[in-house]
Amino acid sequence: MAAVQMSGIFKRYGDTQVVHGIDLHIDDGEFVVLVGPSGCGKSTLMRMVAGLEEITGGELTIGGKRANGLSPQQRNVSMVFQSYALYPHLSVYENIAFGPRIRKEPSTSFKPRIEAAARMLNLTGYLDRLPRALSGGQRQRVAMGRAVVREPELFLFDEPLSNLDAKLRVQMRTEIKALHQRLKNTVIYVTHDQIEAMTMADRIVVMNAGRIEQIGRPLELYDRPANLFVASFLGSPSMNFVEGELQRGEQAIALKLADGGEIALPHADLSAAHGAKITLGIRPEHIETPAAHNGVAMEVEVIEPTGAETHLYGKIGGSTWCATLRKRTAVEPGQRVALRLPGEHIHLFDTESGRRLG
Ligand code: ADP
Repeated sequence: MAAVQMSGIFKRYGDTQVVHGIDLHIDDGEFVVLVGPSGCGKSTLMRMVAGLEEITGGELTIGGKRANGLSPQQRNVSMVFQSYALYPHLSVYENIAFGPRIRKEPSTSFKPRIEAAARMLNLTGYLDRLPRALSGGQRQRVAMGRAVVREPELFLFDEPLSNLDAKLRVQMRTEIKALHQRLKNTVIYVTHDQIEAMTMADRIVVMNAGRIEQIGRPLELYDRPANLFVASFLGSPSMNFVEGELQRGEQAIALKLADGGEIALPHADLSAAHGAKITLGIRPEHIETPAAHNGVAMEVEVIEPTGAETHLYGKIGGSTWCATLRKRTAVEPGQRVALRLPGEHIHLFDTESGRRLG
């Protein structure tokens, strides 16, 4: 097992810099998820760790050893890709045995490892099959089996679940997490799916445009996003936002919206000046409706019952908002509802810089 240290790592293709000075320490045994929108540089960073992509600048160490110049084989990492990359003409057993065979290990040495991996991944009954006779989830497990028998110091997963249907994705998510709990290996896992990041990670690294926006435990990021990007990226349905100007009165402070509406703000310790441009954020599940008094009025446009909860959509200060109710509701489109925005759940951001305030 191995800790990973990235210091000022960057990547250029020709004149274009796509990864800008990444500093990240990953503890031995930690499960770290790199998450961000498509094109933000997650795969490039991961491929630099794997040795599949040259590191333009900065330093990478794996298990305390400088790894910049090492070949993928010398790094003792295993990577599982989105495309599984199984050999179609080889059985499940031979696919898993491929690495040890090309390293010319004797089969007496690797057979027990393959059998153990197959038991762990529920593949024991499938070892003689060809990949085409397997389901998508089983193929993904074979790809993981192949990674596991190498007994690497470090596991790298690059969007491994993207090709699976929604139900299987949820199931494999749990399996990968359980596998990590058993093996206690160091994992770097790349995904664009914030739910995968939230549910699987010990720590999440949110990336955007080749930079790290924030690093933290899933619920830390969810509860205290450092900026508008992280706030809007994590959570589904995503956080509601509305822009306004800070109004400082004698007793209270409020956010004045473009349409003339006002939202009372709880943050007495807020240092922003009167007139400052501020963006308020609140998650759909934190909105209470109907509000007993002093609510913010929203005309309901669309109602989405999911069974477990109901999403009400409408406009606040020109922005579309969603309020999640945990009860069923008789509200109809066109009706006005009063929303209460509990002060402890209000997030405030500087509109221009996007940074969290208070
Ligand atoms: P992600 O994994 O977050 O979707 P990538 O790491 O694949 O993002 O890509 C990051 C950026 O680098 C993108 O803008 C992409 O177009 C660019 N890029 C990736 N590979 C190459 C390459 N071989 N040559 C030039 N640009 C590349």
